[in-house]
Amino acid sequence: MTMLVRESDGTIREDVELRFGYDAAAMELSIGDETISVPAHPGDRPDAHWTMQKLGEKLAESGRQLIGCGTCARFQFSGMSRDMSAGTVGYCLRVGHRVKGGMVEITHRCGEHVYNEGWECSEAWNEEPVMQRRGAAHREARVSAFEGAMVGLAVGDALGFPCEFRSRDQIVASFPPNGVDGFVALHDPRWQGGVFIAGKEHPPGTFSDDTQMSLAVADGLLDVPSGEFDELMPAIAVRFVEWSRSDDNDRAPGSTCMTGCQNLAAGMSLRSAGVADSKGAGAPMRVVPIGLRFGRDREQLLKVARASSVLTHGHPAAIESSAAVALAVSLALYKQTPKTIHAALLEECGAASPELRRRLQQVPALLDAPPELALGPEGLGESWVAEEAVASALWCFWRSPADFRRTVLTAVNTIGDSDTIGCIAGGISGAFNGLDAIPREWREGIEDGARLRETGRRLHDLR
Ligand SMILES: [Mg+2]
Repeated sequence: MTMLVRESDGTIREDVELRFGYDAAAMELSIGDETISVPAHPGDRPDAHWTMQKLGEKLAESGRQLIGCGTCARFQFSGMSRDMSAGTVGYCLRVGHRVKGGMVEITHRCGEHVYNEGWECSEAWNEEPVMQRRGAAHREARVSAFEGAMVGLAVGDALGFPCEFRSRDQIVASFPPNGVDGFVALHDPRWQGGVFIAGKEHPPGTFSDDTQMSLAVADGLLDVPSGEFDELMPAIAVRFVEWSRSDDNDRAPGSTCMTGCQNLAAGMSLRSAGVADSKGAGAPMRVVPIGLRFGRDREQLLKVARASSVLTHGHPAAIESSAAVALAVSLALYKQTPKTIHAALLEECGAASPELRRRLQQVPALLDAPPELALGPEGLGESWVAEEAVASALWCFWRSPADFRRTVLTAVNTIGDSDTIGCIAGGISGAFNGLDAIPREWREGIEDGARLRETGRRLHDLR
């Protein structure tokens, strides 16, 4: 990854490259033609913290400092989390020197340029020209993540839409040898067993109610730029009612979602319109935009996601599953590892829902299981209910974090709620990998692709 070094005379070197192994155990820093190597920690466990400290000490011997930003980092190591996440790309880091102790530590995500108090590098040099150049690149990467999340959720949904209500065996028999591997129409003649979803004949790439409701949530968020909670929920409710009444609402909408919308339209309060004991997957399937909008404010993210569930689904499992999806997306934006995301979901959302906690706890042990087992009744369930959909989507993402295509195809070729697993997994993977990681034919073939991308950009700009 690229870094900056301040020489002893104050000049800034940009021809600096940091290389490291899988878990950052040993590091090698190139400054022009010079190479500085730091060995791995002598203990049993790799310790990037220690290694970075040694690197800083070596540089300090010649009066130099690591002070710049890393780009395209392959691991993250922030003040918030010390979890190593090898294998991720496009994530930027800020590096600074602690005033006391001279320890080098990555302190903040690059592109944001928020300095930690007590870190010497804050105003020691004029970083404006470098930061302007790098800031533009970082903005582009961040926007791509937002667009990727919106397009990604729709792609996963559209791939899964014709698979919904079909067993995995039926899907594979219709599209051998591995099931669908691209957009297929609901009425494609190759489907064995006929068509299970009533409505118009839609072309391949058509998304379902999952994406429609996600767009309704996004529009509600965009309607209230201030993000004020008391204004947001009515705005989202208005968008839900609009969607429920639209001519396009012919894509197997969930009955609980429709009941909630009808109650909202009839004037019931936001807190009582939802079906109190429903924990259907219709609640978590639509909250990816909340993760994008409030990625920097976890308290508000959780509050808004939970309240968005209550509009239609009042069961704690639905409420906490909605919070979990929004949180997962917000962490994926920052290239957090699936393991870190899993731990955060358990911590923030597992306590109030034993059902979600149990399903999330199952996920790591099933990572080596085949999809037909893990994404079925013997594994995480069929995902018609909220907590199963969240756990299943996370499982798909965890198995192939850097591979959007594999993640969503695993998600949709399942016995259960294919479009919803695909939608959630696609949103998380899209946020993690960015728009360009989505295969071109899907980016270009998805319904309303331009609108999805614009929605992602507008949500980004709201922050
Ligand atoms: Mg659907």
